[in-house]
Amino acid sequence: MSESATSSANDTREPVIDLSDVRFGYTTTPVVGDISLRIDPGEYVAIVGPNGSGKSTLMKLMLGLLQPDSGTAQLFGEPSHRFDDGERLGYVAQHASASKEMPITVREVVKMGRFPHVGFGRLSSEDWAIVDRALDTVGMSAFADRRVTQLSGGQRQRAFIARALASEANVLVLDEPTVGVDIESVEAFYELLDALNDDGITILIIEHDLGAVTEHAERVVCLNKEVYFDGPTAEFTDSDALAQAFGVTASTVDAGGSQ
Ligand code: ADP
Repeated sequence: MSESATSSANDTREPVIDLSDVRFGYTTTPVVGDISLRIDPGEYVAIVGPNGSGKSTLMKLMLGLLQPDSGTAQLFGEPSHRFDDGERLGYVAQHASASKEMPITVREVVKMGRFPHVGFGRLSSEDWAIVDRALDTVGMSAFADRRVTQLSGGQRQRAFIARALASEANVLVLDEPTVGVDIESVEAFYELLDALNDDGITILIIEHDLGAVTEHAERVVCLNKEVYFDGPTAEFTDSDALAQAFGVTASTVDAGGSQ
């Protein structure tokens, strides 16, 4: 790895996400307490924690969908709630069941990724080439004309990643993207994320599958209202942060089963 790619050199670059002493509660009780967190370009970060530990809330604060009660949240150097350069960041939600009603094809989903660039205008041949390349990257070219309602959960998530790639996002934010996806597709899905990260795409993922996280992410943030651990994945697996945050031993943790 070149020196410019080391994390100390990254400190001089604009962070993708920068939270400073962020506190937030839906009521007077905080569900996120004084969290400071910086994510640099090219990182692969997993946020883990038990149900109700504030993972989704933290992600909403990062994306500017919620505003902190105190502290600051920045996205690409701007206050997150004012950030409006949406195509730089692709968001992939738990689509496995949510998108079942959508009767459009995979290519039409991916085409939506070009809308921030073309507005209501027609897609140029270059736009279509970007759409095709995105489909190819996620291994979905053969399914381009299939309706998303006729895809497996894993295929559907690939289609949504392709949409983010077509928008030329260089950051992917994924909220438990493999819920409801079968185990072999989960592995293939993670291999795709690894390849995208190798290509320089920043990945931030909320994940309940701790096995997948420890195998793939480079950095883990373990949360339960506050940060119990933030550091390299190997150190996380050797630490007792998991047991502390979950209040149980690691071997008994099956957060997926308690969804
Ligand atoms: P996680 O994603 O880790 O499961 P959440 O961020 O969804 O946790 O929730 C953190 C806490 O905030 C939980 O106690 C949850 O019940 C509460 N909460 C989440 N969303 C809302 C909301 N819209 N209104 C009130 N309370 C909420």
